[in-house]
Amino acid sequence: MARHEYYDDDGSPLREQCPRCGDTFLGDYGDRLHCGKCSYTEFK
Ligand SMILES: [Zn+2]
Repeated sequence: MARHEYYDDDGSPLREQCPRCGDTFLGDYGDRLHCGKCSYTEFK
């Protein structure tokens, strides 16, 4: 069974990717998403 690396077993997205880096996942901090690489922050 093929599985996309960005998705969990049930098919739901695990995390969003950084729009700047492209290959870096954003950390979930409750009310915002933060990229530890370029410090990009996205508020939910
Ligand atoms: Zn980034």
